[in-house]
Amino acid sequence: MEASKSLVSTEEIKRLLDVEKLKYCFECGICTASCSMAELLGKDYNPRNLLEKIFLNPDEVLASEEPWLCAWCYRCHKRCPQGIKLPEIFLYMRSTAIKNSFTQPLEKALEKIVDNIPLPIVTTLVCFHPERAGLTTEKILKTVEQVRTKRIKKKKTAIKSSGEKIAVIGSGPAGLTVASELARKGYKVTVFEAFSEPGGMLRKCIPEYRLPKQVLAKEIQFIKDLGVEIKTGVHVGKDVNFDDLRKEGYKSIFIGAGANKSQELKIEGVDLEGVVHSIEFLWNANCGERIVVGKNVVIIGGGNVAMDAAKTTVRWGADQVRVLYRRSKEEMPAIPWEVKEAEDEGVKIEFLVAPKKFLGKNGKVSAVECVRMQLGELDESGRRKPIPIEGSEFTFEVDMVILAIGEAPDLEFLPKEIELNEDGTIWVNPITMETSVQGVFAGGDAVTGPATVIEAIRAGKCAVESIENYLKSLARAI
Ligand SMILES: Cc1cc2nc3c(=O)[nH]c(=O)nc-3n(C[C@H](O)[C@H](O)[C@H](O)COP(=O)(O)OP(=O)(O)OC[C@H]3O[C@@H](n4cnc5c(N)ncnc54)[C@H](O)[C@@H]3O)c2cc1C
Ligand code: SF4
Ligand code: SF4
Repeated sequence: MEASKSLVSTEEIKRLLDVEKLKYCFECGICTASCSMAELLGKDYNPRNLLEKIFLNPDEVLASEEPWLCAWCYRCHKRCPQGIKLPEIFLYMRSTAIKNSFTQPLEKALEKIVDNIPLPIVTTLVCFHPERAGLTTEKILKTVEQVRTKRIKKKKTAIKSSGEKIAVIGSGPAGLTVASELARKGYKVTVFEAFSEPGGMLRKCIPEYRLPKQVLAKEIQFIKDLGVEIKTGVHVGKDVNFDDLRKEGYKSIFIGAGANKSQELKIEGVDLEGVVHSIEFLWNANCGERIVVGKNVVIIGGGNVAMDAAKTTVRWGADQVRVLYRRSKEEMPAIPWEVKEAEDEGVKIEFLVAPKKFLGKNGKVSAVECVRMQLGELDESGRRKPIPIEGSEFTFEVDMVILAIGEAPDLEFLPKEIELNEDGTIWVNPITMETSVQGVFAGGDAVTGPATVIEAIRAGKCAVESIENYLKSLARAI
């Protein structure tokens, strides 16, 4: 096809594909091997092949659903030895498809999402971001609903209940995936959730403007309608323990407890009033509590959570919002789109800066003393280590500090037979998701550390298969 007749700008494709880099694409397949969507959809989605198709015949790709199947987790990009920005290339194809009125591929993609992914509406909004290609949230919600209604009518088959009971700890995307998939297969599933409402981080921390509570509630109702019982306000370890669950007849347990504990920053002044953790802050904002946001706010951290906290403070009326990140933009863990959105909303990001101490007046934070950093050798995370520049200290006034330096699982409630990794996550057999205790499975952030919704769903789906095999093996042994 001649370049001039193409619907896709050849120049833009060359720029995005970074053709020079692509020449050296090692065909290693790491992108596809690390992709949760490729695992969930099997032969229907292969990011490496899609990249090649875009290079060879971009116009043909416009009519395909494949670019719409990327869940924007950036895992492929982070692992690609060439640093190829696959999700951004796919976004360009989506935007061009919409501009040229190719709406059919999106509908086909949504059919695949509805068929293969529990929580399809939530994941469409939180992971697939069709709005970034120029579609409105209303249009997306309407289309997913229509597709789901059509698919349900098509699939109506009676499920024979096996009667076997399974307990799920945590109602985040990992737990809800396990619960809904097992319920569809006829098992009796009870989800135990410590928080007063189900949804995990989807409910607690992902801001309302990205995921409306009503949309989440509807999606969870859909799972309850499959026969799943969700017991909220029940903290496993305090209100009920593993032995109680076994005595109550639960044949298998899935742990989807997430990574809900904020990492501590050990510097002077962290206990001052006005210094808060991002999880706690977003949680209060999401619960509709009347939170008091400072006028002059500083966020410490460079991940997606830091970006959400920054954007939320802007929306709650802060005059000046600054993010301090101790490395450079290239090392930032937040995905570039989240960073751009925060900057567009007026958030100022200062790179190579770290807080040294927080200063206070009458017990309340009033200023932060910072130090400039430079990058040294690679550290164990594979990123260049930030080193303080002596004598570069400076201080500025603040009236609120939000710490967003990472989250970790809070697993003190687990019986000691369940082995943990050195970093405090749960050890599992990566193929079966079984923990060191037979019949107890785990997945999601509690196993990977903070990750993404789509990875939690993938883990849940993988665990379902193993739980079923385990239950069948129990039945055979009787
Ligand atoms: C602010 C923020 C924004 C994010 N934005 C995105 C995004 O845009 N896209 C994306 O893909 N990912 C995003 N994530 C990450 C995503 O939310 C998580 O990766 C995902 O929710 C992990 O799912 P999970 O089921 O493993 O755990 P969680 O969602 O954390 O759920 C775990 C649940 O287990 C419960 N629990 C814990 N211990 C117990 C116990 N002992 N007894 C009973 N219940 C217990 C908790 O209360 C919680 O409800 C974001 C995370 C945060 C914090
Ligand atoms: S991971 Fe990168 S280098 Fe390897 S096949 Fe994928 S795009 Fe090519
Ligand atoms: S961004 Fe995530 S979902 Fe998209 S291709 Fe890469 S690994 Fe797969």
